[in-house]
Amino acid sequence: MPKPSPDAFVIGAGVCGLSSALALLRSGLAVTVYGADLPHRSTSAAAGALWGVHLVGEDERIGHWAAVTLDHFRALGTDPSSGVKEVAGLHAFLGDQAEPPDMTAGLPSPARADKATLPAGYRTGWRYRAPVISMPVYLDYLVGQVIASGGTLRLGQPLRSLAQVRDLSAAPVIVNCTGIGARELVPDDAMTPVRGQVVVVPNPGLTEFFVGERAEPERITYLFPHGPTVLLGGTEQPGIASTAPDHAAAGEILAACVAVEPRLAGLPVLAHRVGLRPLRPQVRLETSPLGDGRHVVHNYGHGGAGVTLSWGCAQAVSAEAARLHG
Ligand SMILES: Cc1cc2nc3c(=O)[nH]c(=O)nc-3n(C[C@H](O)[C@H](O)[C@H](O)COP(=O)(O)OP(=O)(O)OC[C@H]3O[C@@H](n4cnc5c(N)ncnc54)[C@H](O)[C@@H]3O)c2cc1C
Repeated sequence: MPKPSPDAFVIGAGVCGLSSALALLRSGLAVTVYGADLPHRSTSAAAGALWGVHLVGEDERIGHWAAVTLDHFRALGTDPSSGVKEVAGLHAFLGDQAEPPDMTAGLPSPARADKATLPAGYRTGWRYRAPVISMPVYLDYLVGQVIASGGTLRLGQPLRSLAQVRDLSAAPVIVNCTGIGARELVPDDAMTPVRGQVVVVPNPGLTEFFVGERAEPERITYLFPHGPTVLLGGTEQPGIASTAPDHAAAGEILAACVAVEPRLAGLPVLAHRVGLRPLRPQVRLETSPLGDGRHVVHNYGHGGAGVTLSWGCAQAVSAEAARLHG
């Protein structure tokens, strides 16, 4: 049973908030998660998601967080209810790419793809295995784990400031996992939204992922199989904060993916998803005083790598909360 006043109050019910809550619960703390919206309406729900460090600020801690999360995802890959599965795939480039892609750092033995197997227009490619995460399934899994571990999930109005937490909770530790919401909440002018749009279609039998470089800035072609569906992407538009689907962009995503994989032609669109990647020059994982003797552990600003870093950052939040708790 949760204690009447939790030990930790986590703001944000995306992948970073739910992962942090779960790590805190597993360390023995009582936890409430507070979100302004359902997990399925977060940026996290729109992510592809492929494990691999991409579009995130420079930070020497990133390699460790990514490695911890990789181990975690590999363990979860044996449980189909988690939505996590290690999958083989191809990362293709328009020019000569002599070295394995940066996203494969930490993965064993990426192999150069045979040029004859590349889709039209690509000159080099690298094949490797990596965890692919069906985010709606994984977010449900995390919610289930948080509840089963005794945590509480609350939905309410967006907080206007961190000081407003005083009206909601007496928890000694506050954890700020508000993603792009931190821009107004903290406030933090260093945050830039990088809009991402994807399309979901039925899976015509694809079992491998594909990531392909594009000549157009703000575009990247990818296909991630999620069991009965495939997620097709996508856009990377810095400074655009609209979450309304752009139907012209969706048509362009479909056309680019069909050019790579003809079996996708003519399939009905099941869903359009849009999210705002919370990009910051550096991930903010640090503690600051709330001003009333309590502390806020910030865990936001993971850009295009929030899923990849989620469990490593959650472990760091848990260690920091343990230190603050004495
Ligand atoms: C199209 C796309 C593809 C992506 N692909 C990948 C990928 O392949 N691999 C990868 O690692 N990452 C990927 N990402 C990036 C990843 O999705 C993000 O880094 C990650 O979801 C950030 O998670 P978060 O929990 O910090 O934020 P969010 O998911 O945005 O969650 C924030 C939470 O905080 C709540 N909140 C915000 N403001 C307030 C407030 N004022 N008061 C109360 N609650 C508030 C929200 O309601 C929400 O619950 C992708 C993103 C997009 C958009």
